[in-house]
Formats: sequence, C-alpha cells, structure tokens
Amino acid sequence: MYKAVIGLEVHCELKTQSKNFSSGENSYSRYPNTNLSPVDLAFPGILPVLNKEGVKKALKMSLAFHCDVPDVLTFDRKNYFYPDLPKGYQITQIRKPVGTNGYVMIHVDGEEKKILIHDTHLEEDTASLDHFGNYSLIDYNRCGVPLLETVTEPCIHSSKEAVAFLETLRNMFLYMDTSDARGDMGQIRCDVNVSLMKEDDTELGTRVEMKNINSFNNVKAAIECEIKRQTEILKNGGTIVQETRRFDDVDMCTYPMRKKEDAIDYKYFPEPNIPPIKIDKDWLARIEEEIPVLPYERCQNYMKEYGLSRYDATNLVKEKEIAEYFEQTIKEGSDPKMASNWITSVILGYLNKEEISIRELFLTPKMLTELISMVEKGSISSKQGKEVLFKSLEQEKDPKSIVQEEGLSQIGNDEEIKAIVMEVFGENPKAKEQYLAGRTNIVDFMVGQVMKKTRGRANPSITMKMIKEEMER
Ligand code: ADP
Ligand code: MG
Repeated sequence: MYKAVIGLEVHCELKTQSKNFSSGENSYSRYPNTNLSPVDLAFPGILPVLNKEGVKKALKMSLAFHCDVPDVLTFDRKNYFYPDLPKGYQITQIRKPVGTNGYVMIHVDGEEKKILIHDTHLEEDTASLDHFGNYSLIDYNRCGVPLLETVTEPCIHSSKEAVAFLETLRNMFLYMDTSDARGDMGQIRCDVNVSLMKEDDTELGTRVEMKNINSFNNVKAAIECEIKRQTEILKNGGTIVQETRRFDDVDMCTYPMRKKEDAIDYKYFPEPNIPPIKIDKDWLARIEEEIPVLPYERCQNYMKEYGLSRYDATNLVKEKEIAEYFEQTIKEGSDPKMASNWITSVILGYLNKEEISIRELFLTPKMLTELISMVEKGSISSKQGKEVLFKSLEQEKDPKSIVQEEGLSQIGNDEEIKAIVMEVFGENPKAKEQYLAGRTNIVDFMVGQVMKKTRGRANPSITMKMIKEEMER
C-alpha cells in the first residue's frame, strides 16, 4: 500500500490600510479597478515603497508559527509574464524571508500533530482575472495587496490533516486580526502538492502540484482525487509524471496543465529598489507581546484548567469571539463546565441555524450566567432554562425578566408545596387507601395533580418525596 505525502503552499492576504509597495488602498472592492496607484499599474518610472504594517503583520505571523526571524530581511524579483502581473515581475522573498523553520500544532481526530513550516514569506498579490465566454476581464484592485505565503514541509499524510492545518492557519490569522482570510473572496488560497510512497521507501515520490485552490472542501477533494489517480497508475506499474494539474470543481477531478519541462524559469534576482531591512530587536519583541493566546493553546488550557473534553474545547476555540464569550461567561461567575455545555450544545446550534455570529447574539455572557445560576439554584428546571433561553433570544429580553413575567420560577419552598400536596390529598380521599393496597403508581397521578395546579412549577423531587411520606404516614 502507498502512503500519501502532501505539502501545502498557502497564500493569505494581509489586512493593511494600503498595498505592500504603494499607497493604493487595500480593500476588497465591489467595483473593479478603483483601488489603484500608478505603482500597482506598473507605470514607467514607478518605485515601490515597502509598507511597514505589512512587514509587521508578516513578522507577527512568523513568530506565531515559531519561525526563525532573520536579522535582515531582503526582497527578490520573480520574473514572468502573465496578464495579471502588469510589472512583468512579482516582488517576493527567497533569500531572507520573514520566517523559516517553524511549526504549527493542530488537532486531528482527537490527536495532536505538529506541522512543520519550511518558510513564510511576504510578497504582493496579482490582479484577478474574470473569465467569460470568449473574453476575460482584468481587475487590478488586488494588485500589490500584501500576501503572506506559508510553505509546509511534505509532512502531511491525509486530506483530513491538510484541512485541519488550513483551518488552524486561517484561525490564527483571524485571532491575530492579520487577515480576514475569507476563502470566498480569494483572501486565502492554496497550492497543493501530492505524491505517494511505499511505507519503507527512503525517498519521496514524484509530486504533482495543483495551484490556487480557494476552498478547503476543494483542497480535500483535490487531494483525494490525486491519491486515487496516482495509486491507480502505480498499481498498474506506471510512473507519475511531475507536473502541474488543475483541479476542476465541477467534475471534481484533476487535469494536466503543464509538465516539469515547461516549468517557468523565474530568473530571480535581488529587488534593486528595496534595500535590505534591518529588524530592530525591540520592535520584534513588541510585536511578539501583541500575539494573543492562540486557539491551540486556548484549547489545551480549557482541557487542563476546566476539565473540558477535547471535543468541546475545540468547538469553543474555533472562533475567537466564541472563545472570548466563553471566557467572559466564566468571569461573570459561571461554572466552566456549565458554561461550556450551554454554549456548545445550545448557543452554537442557534447561531448555526440562524446563520449569525456570536457578536449579534442578544444574550450577553452576564445574562447567560444569570440563567445558569437560576437553573443551578433550582428556581427553574434545566428544561425550562432552555425554553427561557430561546424566548430571551426571540423576544430580546433578559432571561430574568422572562422568568418573572411568566411566573416560571420553580416552587422550591417546602411549605408552599406542602399546602398544595394537602389540597390534592383532600380532593382524592381514596388515594392513600389505594396506595396501601398496592397501587403504588397512584403516586405519579398525585404528582401530576400538583404539577397541574402549579403549572409545572413545583419542584418535582420535593413533591414526590412529600406525597410518598403522606401516603405512608
Ligand atoms: P518548488 O520551489 O518547486 O515549489 P519546493 O521544494 O519548495 O518546490 O516545495 C513546494 C511544496 O511542495 C512544499 O510545500 C513541499 O512540502 C511540497 N513537496 C515537495 N516535495 C514533495 C513531494 N515529493 N510530495 C509532496 N509534496 C512535496
Ligand atoms: Mg511552488
């Protein structure tokens, strides 16, 4: 049997005010060709000016990937011709990129795995092309947007691991607010390299590259197709050709694009218009201090400190806002396990169903804490708690007011319950006799009567206990 070997090159657009080498605005615009400077359009005589914010965010990501950061950054020219590249070259980094030799920890199937990062480098995005019947349109808005490319070692072995890595990576950008990382807007895209080898082979097999896939589902499908196609070839004694293939998301299969012999020679050379950049140690230290607790660490903390299951902890850290909501609920005084249960089993489901984010949720961590406390104290049952929660979201009223207005709070007061129990015994004079004659299920009937009178508000276990005592007295 063959083992799959996968390496990913992930491009993510960084969130900055302006482009990486010009003052053109960096914003996703609905109107083509509006966020442009002459630099982005490569007018003759233009000169690039490096964006410090872009460098800062790239360095922040590099540190979060545990990469080595060089003392001096350099930029290089990658030369090629294509309609989406007006300058005829891309400014990128190959000699001294913002980071090398890092790693990212991920969770796959309840296990931890370390994904090795070969390097991460800062470059500029190209224009985008929209293809129509027999013509294409160019939108230069994306030209020059700072782009961070992160290259993994060939250490990924399944589509599941690849997707888990991509989700973690995307999440890290979101936690650090360095990118919006929206796949549907092409802000995160990925080149996927796949090869096969036998378990005891010492050398990697020949790889196939699939470029520019912008949804994680398609990455998964592309990897699975390629594993299947290559397995088939090797099983029949064939050899894999090193090539670039295109993944078609309509047919869900891959087609050849170009072979190794047609590979472009980029004729890299140092970018003459951007001098080497010395990185100030204090600046770098300040950037490192700004890194928040990241999803992997938060997940570990939730399991260790609060005793949450890996499953729940992973769900809570999937979005920074959800993790913050959970942490705030604990700060308000909720028990962590209770808070986790309510959030993962009720609130996340609601957000999903309504397709809203937790920021839009009416219920604040403080309100959730009050609700949890009412349930814990037994003033309402947990079933009622759920109903109150949904009513609160629907009517945009805090749970406390709902409980008061609807007179929901459970009667836990012994005397009050006792009075109603005695009333029910008065109305059913034969009950005791029947019970003593062996019809013990009459207790349930009596409990039912008490519930009817209190509209379900009597504490059921106290009610049951009192009725039994009364029967046996
Ligand atoms: P290039 O510079 O030609 O793109 P690299 O050696 O830098 O090639 O690798 C690019 C990507 O391909 C990396 O993510 C790397 O992990 C991956 N890769 C390299 N060799 C293999 C292989 N045999 N199988 C799968 N992935 C590979
Ligand atoms: Mg490559």
